Amino acid sequence: MKRIAIYPGSFDPVTLGHVDVIKRAVRLFDEVIVAVAESRQKTPALSVEERVSLIKRAVKKVSRVRVESFNGLLVEYLKKKKAQAIIRGLRAISDFEYEFQMALMNRKLYPDAETVFLMPAEPYTYLSSSLVKEIVRLGGKVNCLVPDKVQAALNRKFRKKS
Ligand code: ADP
Repeated sequence: MKRIAIYPGSFDPVTLGHVDVIKRAVRLFDEVIVAVAESRQKTPALSVEERVSLIKRAVKKVSRVRVESFNGLLVEYLKKKKAQAIIRGLRAISDFEYEFQMALMNRKLYPDAETVFLMPAEPYTYLSSSLVKEIVRLGGKVNCLVPDKVQAALNRKFRKKS
């Protein structure tokens, strides 16, 4: 049986922390599907198409990874993809409560799936998409924290608004 994992998130924008988690996940699974949530409620800075394309670019050289967008219930998407696991990243204790709640809720909705938590390499434990956006919004550089082209995409977005 092919072991398939889904790594869902907003990825607004993708950071090197996300990429680190993706690389760890492909060591454990035959295929990893990065599932970019449309997240209309969160009003993302980047469109879902932009987020998908930036991740595709970032994982171009990593084999067995697919990047797609999705909306609706994660567990339904898992069933459709015949995936057995959900990947989530854990950076600090502060992530734990929300992630724990989500994992147990998803288990309730679909008991056959397991949530697997992966910790990124240490330099990425303080890194979040919202912090990255805040830095760019204030005119700072995030090149060493995000994959290629992400800074440019955010610059375009925030310059347009100001
Ligand atoms: P969501 O809106 O679902 O929280 P995110 O894109 O913020 O979407 O995060 C997706 C997943 O990646 C979450 O499990 C989050 O904890 C994890 N994550 C975010 N940033 C990092 C990072 N720097 N290192 C490791 N995992 C991370």
